[in-house]
Amino acid sequence: MTLPLFLVLTAILIPTVLTLRYAHLCWSRPFTHCRRCAGTGRVRSAFGLSTRECRPCQGIGYRLRTGRHVLNYVRRLHHDARTAAARDQANQNTHRTNHRR
Ligand SMILES: [Zn+2]
Repeated sequence: MTLPLFLVLTAILIPTVLTLRYAHLCWSRPFTHCRRCAGTGRVRSAFGLSTRECRPCQGIGYRLRTGRHVLNYVRRLHHDARTAAARDQANQNTHRTNHRR
């Protein structure tokens, strides 16, 4: 194996492995600790005298991973496309049945 080939393979394999690993992580563990409140659900107010509910996690302490947001969006797109295609097919079948009468 020559050095340029090794470098090219490394440049392709490392990002691919990292992406697949992150996708698996998003699938298996969709939630992670909120970075804003470190999982407590409360953040200090502007003057530091009191605490209030963390807005990004809404006081839960967990947030959905960004990759999971993307996966959910793609799944929703796929589901909507399939239901729309099935609806169109059903409408065409109804139209054909009505047209024959
Ligand atoms: Zn939070």
